[in-house]
Amino acid sequence: MSEKSYFTIDTSILFRANQRYFDDVLAKYGLGYAQLIFLIEIYEHEGIAMNALAEGAYFDKGSVTKSIQKLEESGYVEVEVSSEDRRVKKLYTTAKTQEIILKLYAIRQERWNYLSQDLSAQEKQAFIEANAAICKRAKEYEGLHMVDSEMKFYGFQKCTLLDYPGKVASTLFTGGCNFRCPFCHNRDLVFLDEGASPLDIDYLEEFFKKRRKLLDGVCITGGEPLLNRHLKTFMRRLKDMGYLIKLDTNGSYFNALKALIEEGLIDYVAMDIKNIKEKYPLTVGVDNVDMTAIDQSIDYLLKGKIDYEFRTTLVKEFHDISDVAKIAQRIKGAKAYYLQNFVDRDKVIQKGLHPLSHEELIKAKKAALPYVENTQIRGEE
Ligand code: SF4
Repeated sequence: MSEKSYFTIDTSILFRANQRYFDDVLAKYGLGYAQLIFLIEIYEHEGIAMNALAEGAYFDKGSVTKSIQKLEESGYVEVEVSSEDRRVKKLYTTAKTQEIILKLYAIRQERWNYLSQDLSAQEKQAFIEANAAICKRAKEYEGLHMVDSEMKFYGFQKCTLLDYPGKVASTLFTGGCNFRCPFCHNRDLVFLDEGASPLDIDYLEEFFKKRRKLLDGVCITGGEPLLNRHLKTFMRRLKDMGYLIKLDTNGSYFNALKALIEEGLIDYVAMDIKNIKEKYPLTVGVDNVDMTAIDQSIDYLLKGKIDYEFRTTLVKEFHDISDVAKIAQRIKGAKAYYLQNFVDRDKVIQKGLHPLSHEELIKAKKAALPYVENTQIRGEE
């Protein structure tokens, strides 16, 4: 039997054995394996949104909804509708959870101690690291598992002269994002309503077939387009029709980005650099940011294999002039760096943010110019 076959059998055994074990020992609390995972996650991130819980623990939304319903019915969790966005459900543990949480941690620890008893401390650490690396890859594969054409877009601008530099293009908007940038204008796409209906894909394909002579390219933006598992198939169809493709991304799915570029499916990348490393979590509104992937995306684009731009949306509450200088230093020699001033709109994720003044914007540009000659202010000059 090949190594790969052992791997699939072993992971299946581990999953089932753990499920049986935890279902048995947690039965007296009225909990099961999945609820244990969710309960600890909620306890450690009080107020976490239901969608973020599904993404973090890698469960489908239906399973999360069912488990949370069960936890709510048994009094372990309270669900609160967000005052900022009524479609977002925030989750909190109750006093009943807090009473047993240490026991739950102990049960989890006991299981790990039992399973890892034949390993040395060094081997345990190596296992934890290897396991995390394999899980990360597994999630990325899912991101690239593009076997059919069920690509979903939730917004469509038929013609734009602004989105794709120097080209006449259409823009398509995907749903969902791994970030929650407080200044994001696309709240409806980031917190995709469960009832949101995607555009008819046949209609879009027909549209692009008919407009081939009028349009140069298609911009794919979001949300974060690289989250979508069917992107590759859709891009291939656009390419077969002869379109140029521009992709907007936050750079946090490096492997997916690289694979699509190397397959010749992207002609232009616009990557957001949200801030200096230390301020990333604050600026993107989530605690766990994969800075390695973002760094890899920056370094890959800087090699210049493909046309690209970097861009930063500047918000008074998040950016100092010195931050812009440091970002520009990080992307030294880049082909293009665009500074975009924040514009307050109805659909912004967090209210009460402010743009930089015109003078500050000019200073920001001056701070970046020594590192990136082609630094421009977008939309103001
Ligand atoms: S600004 Fe971009 S990366 Fe940030 S939440 Fe909005 S869509 Fe996601």
